[in-house]
Parts: sequence; C-alpha cells; structure tokens
Amino acid sequence: MTPHSQSSALHEDARVAPSGIKDGRRYIESLRDGREVWVHGEKVADVTKHPAFAGVVQTIAGLYDLQHQDATRDVMTYVDDDGIRGSISYMPPRSPEDLLRRRRNTEVWTEQSFGMFGRLPDFCAAMIVGFHDLHDELNALHAGFGDNASNYLKFARQNDLVLSHALHDPHMDKTQRPKQDPDRCIRIVKERDDGIVVRGARFCTLGPLSNEVVVAPTYVLAEDEQDFALWFACSLDSPGLKQVCRDPISLRPATDDHPLSSKYDEQDVLLIFDDLLIPWERVFLMRKPKEANVLFRSRVMSWAGYASVLQLLARLELLIGTAHLIAETGGIANRPFVGLEMGELASYAGMFKGLLRAAEVDCKISPAGHYGLGDTSHLRPLITMTSERIINIFEHVATSSTVFTPTAEDFDVPELRKLLDVYGRGKGVDAHYRYKLCRLAWELSSSSFGGRQQLYERLHSGSPEVLISNAYQRYDKTKGIAMVNRILGQ
Ligand SMILES: Cc1cc2nc3c(=O)[nH]c(=O)nc-3n(C[C@H](O)[C@H](O)[C@H](O)COP(=O)(O)OP(=O)(O)OC[C@H]3O[C@@H](n4cnc5c(N)ncnc54)[C@H](O)[C@@H]3O)c2cc1C
Repeated sequence: MTPHSQSSALHEDARVAPSGIKDGRRYIESLRDGREVWVHGEKVADVTKHPAFAGVVQTIAGLYDLQHQDATRDVMTYVDDDGIRGSISYMPPRSPEDLLRRRRNTEVWTEQSFGMFGRLPDFCAAMIVGFHDLHDELNALHAGFGDNASNYLKFARQNDLVLSHALHDPHMDKTQRPKQDPDRCIRIVKERDDGIVVRGARFCTLGPLSNEVVVAPTYVLAEDEQDFALWFACSLDSPGLKQVCRDPISLRPATDDHPLSSKYDEQDVLLIFDDLLIPWERVFLMRKPKEANVLFRSRVMSWAGYASVLQLLARLELLIGTAHLIAETGGIANRPFVGLEMGELASYAGMFKGLLRAAEVDCKISPAGHYGLGDTSHLRPLITMTSERIINIFEHVATSSTVFTPTAEDFDVPELRKLLDVYGRGKGVDAHYRYKLCRLAWELSSSSFGGRQQLYERLHSGSPEVLISNAYQRYDKTKGIAMVNRILGQ
C-alpha cells in the first residue's frame, strides 16, 4: 500500500460487512443522509419524500427490487470472488459470454424504465469497470491510484452504490482557458496528507438520487493545466457539496396526464464543490492532462457505451410503439406518407440493433484482459445525427392529437364524460384509451419532459458536431484512397 492508495475511509467502510445488492427499501434509505439539495431556493430535508423526487425514487426503487426477484435475479446479479452477490453492472467481463451477461443486465434496467433514464446506475457503474481496467496504467502514472480504482470497484459493487457522473464544467465564458479563469473548471486548490481539496462546479444528472458522484475530465487540457486534470469519486453527502436543481418537471399530478414526467424525471443539477476534501483513496488520476484525455475517451467509456445504446433502443421502441398506435387508432396508418416515415423509424432501430450486435461479435480484449465491444466509434455520431429526425417523424405522425386532449379530471365529470366518450373515440378504441395514448405521445415529444429527453439523447456525450467530425478523422480511408488511385492509374 502506498500513501496515496487505500487509507482511512475505505478501511473503515471495509470493517462493516458489505451489504451486497440493494433492494428498493435500502436504496431509499441510502438517500436519507446529509446531502445538500436545493429546489426552487429551498433546501430539501429528505429527497425521498420531496414531491420533486418522490415519484422517481419509487421508480428506481422498483428497479432495485428486480435484483431480488426470481425472474431477474440471475440476469442482473452474480456472486463475486469474495462470495458477495453484486450487480452485473459492476462485473468486469472476462469472456465474450460475460459481455453478453452485461448486455442482458443492461437490457433489464433500460427496458424496465422504457429508455427514459439516461443516467441509470448501470451507466456509471460501467465507468468504474473502465477505471479498474486501467489499473496498471493508473498505478504507473501515480503509485497507488490504480489500486484505488480497483478497490473502489469492489467497494461500489459490494455495497451496490448508485453512481452519477459529473464530466462537464458550467458554461460560463468558453473563450477563457481554465488558467485564465480558474472558476471555469473544477481544480485542485490544496494537497493535504489525507487528500486533495477541490473547488469548482459541474453538471450532473441523477445527483440528488445517487450515493456518489464520479468526476473526470472531458476537455482536452494542456500540459500547463495540470490542476484541472482530475479523476475522483466522492459521496454526495460530503460537507461542502451543494446540488442546485433545475426546475423539476416532475411536479405534476401522477395521473394519466403525466405517465412519464411524474415517474422518470431523473433531475439535472449544478453540483458545486465548495472546497471539498477528497480522500486519497477516492482519487484515481491527477495532474496528468494528456493521459487523462486519451485514457478517458479510449478506455474508460468502453463499457458505458452499452448502456447508452440500449437506453436509446428502449426509448426508440417506445416511440415506435406509440407512433404506431396513434396512427392505427387515428385511422391514418395506411396513408403512404405515414408508412414511409414509420419505415424510416423502423430502419433506424434495425440499424442500431445490428451495429450493436456487430460490435459484440467483434468484441475485443483490453490489455488487462477484459472483453469490451468492438469498434463503436460510429454509434454515438449516428445516434446524435438521427435523434432530431426521430422526434420529427414522431411529431409528423402524432400531429395535433398530442395537443387536443382533455385531462384526467375531465373524465370524472359525468356531463363531460358522456361527450368525451363520443368525440374522443379512435379507430377500435374507446375515448379513455385514446386520451391516455395521446398524453403519452405528448410527454414523449413536445412536452418539457420530451424536450429534455431529446436534448439528452443529442448532447450527453459531448458536442455532436465534434463527435461526428471525429468519426471522419478516425475512419480508415486507405482502402478508398487506394481505389481512387487505381482508377487514376497512380
Ligand atoms: C439532459 C442533459 C443531461 C446532461 N447530463 C450531464 C451529466 O450528467 N454530466 C455531465 O457532465 N454533463 C451532462 N450534460 C452536459 C453535456 O455533457 C453537454 O451539454 C455536452 O457535452 C455539450 O456541451 P455544451 O452544452 O457546453 O456545448 P458545447 O460543447 O460548448 O457546444 C456549443 C456549440 O459549439 C460547438 N462546438 C463544441 N466544441 C467545438 C469545437 N471543438 N470546435 C467547433 N465547434 C465546437 C457545438 O457543436 C455547439 O454548436 C447533460 C446535458 C443534457 C442536455
């Protein structure tokens, strides 16, 4: 053990028997700590009871319960080398079959939540598998930090931590390099015997509803910007950590009017690190700007990509199913234009499924012996390119049926109900079914909930334009160039 590897806190935690996989009740209890969460200018006393979070907390708790149910336990969990049952989200894949086990687990998380959670716990757990995969490289950069990463994976798995991530600094003035305006980026302000003190702010989805947050850089940092190159994790109840929530979309009645926003608003916060002590055992990399950028993009995110594509596929299935039923019950399914557009949606779904399958078949092994997907560098660019078109098509098919719908209470008024039952009917369905379907379509697309989901899909892995032009840069063009030169006789 080195001075910068496992020290006090993880040791103390380790003395307590690991608690193994969570169920819903334990998930809810784990959020009742000293976390500082602000909603509409008020400090929240208990996030599990606050109306902005209560619905989504119950939804996530239901997902954790699945880990204990006969039908899903062995799909979602496994027994690790210490004999502790942990989530497969935290399992390093040592064979192609392990990789498929990871997929099946992620499918349960994403499909049971209809692709509505971008930041499912499964996503950030996969990042920790990525940190562990870099054990040797991180140890070589800073003695003990690779051990920290592997110890943290074990600790997170054996206590089934719910993680979120904070990769992006606040917008502010992007013409300024971090050295010109240090507040622009999270940074080390002090090094102490027991850890580092960090200051700054970051964006973070699911922060109020997770146990710990993982911080890593996404920027290309210069060699003289060392204090900004940081990978660490910290508990969300740490003193000095503030979470300021965006306007919650969830503050709606949990009726059929809001089938999604009342249950799936995962919340996005500005996370403020107001001189926070990060103990050494939670630090995985520091002051290595070049390596931070290269290793993060090429290795850490290798497994998190699975969750992102499977979440998109689940959301796309829901969009296709809803658009199809809107078209069928509206009597427009056989119109040629509708068929063309629905065919385009189906083609996107088929393409993403096929590309993911190909990446599984072409899986590759990392230097540490972990199996990951083959080349997926084209997947995120394709997802961001099609994300707006997918919602456009959805709106073309659903048209104004998403707008001209009564609300839940109207169906409780007898004199309205008898009229709504007449004028709200669809093809082969009664007015109440058609109303619920139209409300679902509204939430999926044009509502503030749908708009936020769409923005997430487009932006969550960075600027789409940069992603797409990187795909061009990375593409192996030698075959094409050789063909051209053969034709030109060169
Ligand atoms: C719903 C949602 C949830 C999110 N959750 C998280 C989270 O949990 N954690 C987290 O860290 N972040 C999160 N993000 C933030 C997300 O990572 C950023 O929005 C994303 O990286 C884009 O950054 P930006 O918004 O600063 O825009 P920029 O990247 O600054 O883009 C602004 C404009 O500049 C262009 N541009 C960008 N870079 C270049 C370049 N190099 N050259 C030329 N043009 C360029 C872009 O194309 C765009 O038009 C979330 C975002 C959303 C919408």
